[in-house]
Amino acid sequence: MSSALPAHHRPNGGFRNPWGNGQLHGFAAFIKWRLFDRATVPLRPDPDPSVFSRAAPAFARPRAAAERVTVTWVGHATFLLQAGGLNILTDPMWSERAGPVQFAGPRRVVPPGIAFEDLPPIDIVLQSHNHYDHLDAGTVRRLAAEHPDAQWLAPLGLERWLARHGTRARELDWWSAARIGGLALTATPAQHFSARSPFDRDRTLWCGWSIAAPSRRIFFAGDTGYHPEFPEIGRRLGPFDLALVPIGAYDPRWFMRPVHMDPEEAVRAVTDLAGDGAAPAMVPMHWGTFKLTDEPLDEPPRRASAAWTAASLPAARFWLLAHGDTRSIEGAR
Ligand code: ZN
Ligand code: ZN
Repeated sequence: MSSALPAHHRPNGGFRNPWGNGQLHGFAAFIKWRLFDRATVPLRPDPDPSVFSRAAPAFARPRAAAERVTVTWVGHATFLLQAGGLNILTDPMWSERAGPVQFAGPRRVVPPGIAFEDLPPIDIVLQSHNHYDHLDAGTVRRLAAEHPDAQWLAPLGLERWLARHGTRARELDWWSAARIGGLALTATPAQHFSARSPFDRDRTLWCGWSIAAPSRRIFFAGDTGYHPEFPEIGRRLGPFDLALVPIGAYDPRWFMRPVHMDPEEAVRAVTDLAGDGAAPAMVPMHWGTFKLTDEPLDEPPRRASAAWTAASLPAARFWLLAHGDTRSIEGAR
């Protein structure tokens, strides 16, 4: 019976990373990082947040034409995507702080690129996992109240939490898909973990998402370390036009490597997705919004851009968005 269990399911419930390099560091290592390293290794300074440019969003209202794709970066892992004539949010997060309470936890350094009240009608919400910087109780309740027709998709185990916060979600396992309108939305493998308290570690799943419209395909990676299945994601669900991939939260490397890619690995993941074909346009995310780890806030895009150039990839396909920036792809492939 247990032989039928997928490798990322634990026999007694909960989930795990199925790859050899996906083992997380334990609590002792976390203490070494936060107490010992932080006390002995000086942090490199962050820039003043005013260096982060902001752009006025230019998505279509209320919806874009079915064959048009637009992508607007709200900040961190939150995007407004328009594809197949529908409006999609990824990991919606509009709160001031990423944490269980609003008086603690990392504070937002740049305001959301789209004010919540300026959102167009939301049709689909894609959730990647339950960390506070991705799954925010205040934002979920507000979306449930003001965008009640949105359909929510989440990885296994999150339906109950979302129901308690006012939304009905469909849960998907890795590689399973839902159809909404003309879109096929598939949960994809990711190397990460889940927790909202010290007592619920890895009880719910984590994932990325493939968003396939009839003529265009988008990959949203969620939070992930570098793992060996990006080529398989590309083979099964590609070719992708756009890849939204995390480039921040990587230092100290000895601690973060299993769960967060560094910028060089993020570029490699994008080329892995493409196989022998042309690489999708890379849209960096998960940087410049919340200070979560030790690297300076403005380092990830500099390193990602250098890695993109070093890999001889076309500069026009490196889409470094400012908060609020919209870019679009017109027409069919
Ligand atoms: Zn996470
Ligand atoms: Zn995150």
